[in-house]
Amino acid sequence: AGGQDGEVQKAQRAAKASEEPGQRSPTIFSKIIDRTIRADILYEDDKCLAFRDVAPQAPVHFLVIPKRPIPRLSCVATGDAELLGHLLLVASQMAKVEGLVDGYRVVINDGKQGAQSVYHLHLHVLGGRQMGWPPG
Ligand code: C5P
Repeated sequence: AGGQDGEVQKAQRAAKASEEPGQRSPTIFSKIIDRTIRADILYEDDKCLAFRDVAPQAPVHFLVIPKRPIPRLSCVATGDAELLGHLLLVASQMAKVEGLVDGYRVVINDGKQGAQSVYHLHLHVLGGRQMGWPPG
């Protein structure tokens, strides 16, 4: 396990070094969490928030974010496992609440090549139309 941790730490350092300048937390999502800016909030608990994407790419498109400002998926550590699981559970529960009975897609964009634009970890949940594969 020690060796594996070494690899994880190496990946985390590499990810941090490749972060875009000016893209560090706090981001606009911190302002949504503290209600400095408005969002259509669907769900909140002590660990996370779910709100509708301001530029929806599907009939249903919401984001699930941790309240703690983790910049990106490649920055997560072993100790974040429970929080990451919680985000997926909330995504699944809110997809049900939103009526996505025929399926949906969950996306996490990481870094430049992943086309991430806001450097506060977020799960996209998209549904209400047929998705294509591969994604662009
Ligand atoms: O994965 P990526 O970083 O590109 O996604 C960021 C998402 O945050 C975009 O879909 C954008 O529409 C959304 N956004 C939002 N409310 C804001 C700013 C961005 O829903 N105030």
